[in-house]
Amino acid sequence: MSQHAPGPDLSQLPPEMLDFALLKTAGALAPRLGRLTVPGRKPILTPAFLGNTSRGVIPHISQDNFRKYAGNNGVYVALEDFVEKHPQKTPPIFEYDVPEPLRKFVALPQDTLLILGARRTPPIPSPAPHTNTEISLLTSVGNRSMSSEYYAAAARKLQPDIVVGMADIPFGQETIGIKRKDKMSDRTETWLRDMVAKRKAIGKDEPRFDIFAPILPIERDLQSWYIEHLLDDMLDSISGVAIYDAYQLEDLPDTLLHLPRLSLHVPASPHELLRHISLGMDLLTVPFISSATDAGIALDFTFPPAEKVNGNERWALGIDMWHADHAVSLTPLSKDCQCYACTKHHRAYVQHLLSAKEMLGWFLIQVHNHAVVESFFTSVRNSIEAGTFDADVAAFEAFYEPQLPEKTGQGPRVRGYQFKSEEHAKREKKNAKKWNGEIGGGAKGKIVLKGAHGQQPEKKKEMRDVIDDEALIGLVGMEDETGPIQLDDLKIEDDGKA
Ligand SMILES: [Zn+2]
Repeated sequence: MSQHAPGPDLSQLPPEMLDFALLKTAGALAPRLGRLTVPGRKPILTPAFLGNTSRGVIPHISQDNFRKYAGNNGVYVALEDFVEKHPQKTPPIFEYDVPEPLRKFVALPQDTLLILGARRTPPIPSPAPHTNTEISLLTSVGNRSMSSEYYAAAARKLQPDIVVGMADIPFGQETIGIKRKDKMSDRTETWLRDMVAKRKAIGKDEPRFDIFAPILPIERDLQSWYIEHLLDDMLDSISGVAIYDAYQLEDLPDTLLHLPRLSLHVPASPHELLRHISLGMDLLTVPFISSATDAGIALDFTFPPAEKVNGNERWALGIDMWHADHAVSLTPLSKDCQCYACTKHHRAYVQHLLSAKEMLGWFLIQVHNHAVVESFFTSVRNSIEAGTFDADVAAFEAFYEPQLPEKTGQGPRVRGYQFKSEEHAKREKKNAKKWNGEIGGGAKGKIVLKGAHGQQPEKKKEMRDVIDDEALIGLVGMEDETGPIQLDDLKIEDDGKA
């Protein structure tokens, strides 16, 4: 390998490998056009957005409707959605003995790109600290932890197209000390090495997956140790990067510039999406599509805006379908939208469905919201191609309100694992539950978080490289028997193990 060459020679790659062609770019921190090709899957023109799944499905959209209404690009699936019953029960997904078990399990079409990550996006902060070998998860049935070995073994077993390396990020923690950041860098490096070793151990005839290396949401010098090792030892083994803070793109080393970039930075609005795209993001996750749908908000924006801005008036980015105005309105959700919901139904019907708590109401809004964002991305690509992106962004920002509308009506029933991270941190509880402040006999009223829970003895380096699928049984540890922990009762320790 040539030292830090700007990308491997594509003609030398084995045919099963992912290919990312940069079609247009104007420098390191500029919007760019690309084409991501994974053999057997539909090619994706970038920038593009991925379907953001919950338990393997796009909320409100059944798998038979997926291709028709939401399946233009790939999907992002989080392993944490599938391992909550471990270790009492081996997660059913690991007992499913077919080729590509994850794809079959979630009934994903054969040609849809499938990306597996450890955490949901946005992730639900866990009150328990991570350790040197495990991340902690807060699932609908309590605290769990997942080791790097377990995750790597799961990737091999589940056969997604792309796996995002497990990152040590203490989500939900407002301030992170320098020592903790050092540890993030160390652990992420080790965990990525585990994943690379697991992939190397895969036989020639077995299906392989591509690896996207996480780039931590901390300053470059604080993750320099990790990045150095990534460039020196693992560059040949990774096919892309997963970025948790879009503004860190500035610090991305030149040798990584040719790789596709998956954004796990949660955008609050289309404006923020545009900022991420303007920095050169390729694949984006857009959790606000589903959160708007849950709130009964039909997204309503086009890029660039169809009309000129009129005085100081700003247009709303979405329409609250709970609003009484729509009770007798026979107009579509959005005026010019060609989606199934807008061509077959009207606002009054959608509002009736919401009031009656009919699932079809959320389905129609979700179909529409995906269509709006799909057409937004198509226009963004056209705009970059035409060289008018900056001007179009300026027009968009001038025309629309800066934030999505506030939620007013009720959403569908919320389950623990669907809590948005910020909702978790609020004082009021979604599902009130008696909590006596004890875990495993800790002092009353004060919770002692045990950093070393369920932890495996440190394995020697050479042992880590030969871990097989048996790791899938027994490595996700139980934390407590008391059900979901209310986050606001807990003191979050900076870290578990020094
Ligand atoms: Zn529509």
